[in-house]
Amino acid sequence: MNYTAEIIAVGTELLLGNIANTDAQDVSIALSELGINVFFQTVVGDNVERLKQAVNIAKSRANIIITTGGLGPTFDDLTKQTLAEAFGKKLILNKDVANTIMAYFEKRLPGIKMTNNNLRQAELPEGCVVFDNGVGTAPGCAFESDGTHVLMLPGPPRECREMLKTCVTPYLKKLSESEIHSHNIHIFGLGESAVEEKLRDLMENLQNPTLAPYAKTGEVMLRLTAKARSASEAEKLMKPVLDKVRETLGDIVYGVDTGSLENTVASLLIDHGTSLATAESCTGGLLSKRLTDIPGASNFFFGGLVTYSVASKTTLLGIDPLLIKEKHAVSREVALAMADGARSGLGADIGVGITGLAGPDGDGSDVEPGTVFVALTTNEASFCRRLSLSPDRDRTRAMGASHALDMIRRHLTGLRVVGE
Ligand code: ATP
Repeated sequence: MNYTAEIIAVGTELLLGNIANTDAQDVSIALSELGINVFFQTVVGDNVERLKQAVNIAKSRANIIITTGGLGPTFDDLTKQTLAEAFGKKLILNKDVANTIMAYFEKRLPGIKMTNNNLRQAELPEGCVVFDNGVGTAPGCAFESDGTHVLMLPGPPRECREMLKTCVTPYLKKLSESEIHSHNIHIFGLGESAVEEKLRDLMENLQNPTLAPYAKTGEVMLRLTAKARSASEAEKLMKPVLDKVRETLGDIVYGVDTGSLENTVASLLIDHGTSLATAESCTGGLLSKRLTDIPGASNFFFGGLVTYSVASKTTLLGIDPLLIKEKHAVSREVALAMADGARSGLGADIGVGITGLAGPDGDGSDVEPGTVFVALTTNEASFCRRLSLSPDRDRTRAMGASHALDMIRRHLTGLRVVGE
């Protein structure tokens, strides 16, 4: 059976714009990982009539309805009552859930008196499956009625996320005889629309597996998802598509299921037994941060200097002040000297230097905001990329760090480092 889900987020504060609907985002991500289509997301206030309307519409076009919010103990928490009524179910006090809530209060909230309202959270639709709330009091639940599965999750994002993982995913997996398997294909070096353009025919003609793009700053991720009776059957379905993507995109595919560019680079540095040192100006340590986010980074990362001023570039990296004066602090020559300074200063195999004008404003010179030079040097070779980015400070810095990682990856895998 093909399942189609609809998400209804309940909460007036969402309609007022006080908070962003991150629960719907989390639910959608979880469903897409299960290969379940979401065609509609609705937001409705804490109002019984409008919630009923939203449920009736959802019933007519989806066979899985997932609500978030409105499960708490207060008067405006109306989701359970409304959904139960819409599907002709009674609410019944669940003794086990009531005991769990009482125990939660005693253990985690000593001194806070439990009210009768709190016990309302233990009233659940008859015959439902209870979703335990490991990080809060309001349990979630699920029931089936005339072929429609209704799942109700708490609003607080931490509780919603935890329940998605521990209860919703196993519940939905059981609905289908087939298993869902997927691979994340990571790409750096081409924008989302250009990737889509190259893969459009392939994506449009695929049904199982499916291939969907996701963009993040400067990168694209493609998720390849297959439904099959077993993991090996799913792999068989995905292999030709994965091969085709690699063949079409070439070496801008930096990894499959590696998680991030820094993870890929970290594995390569470890495999090659190669060490790295960095000198950063406009990125302010972002590259060091991304590398040291990885546990065990000390195995390959000797250290990074943030040399933001001319004085720090000269005193810490030993760069000739005349070079900076003559060529400008944002120049190919200075980026290369920074990479050399970090490498020799810290005794590493590879040195990286990043200097740029992150913007939004210029510095009065000819250098355009958004210009970044990223250099990589070793004992034998040196490379420098010039980036001309839009003068968006955050993006310029993120891209500077990503290009440095891409250059390290390319250098370690024998690919062309500049000129792509
Ligand atoms: P509680 O037991 O805390 O009352 P609940 O299930 O009744 O939980 P709500 O009262 O609707 O949930 O929301 C609790 C809090 O969770 C809200 O104040 C809000 O901060 C957050 N929240 C609710 N819905 C969403 C959503 N869709 N996305 C992000 N945050 C949400």
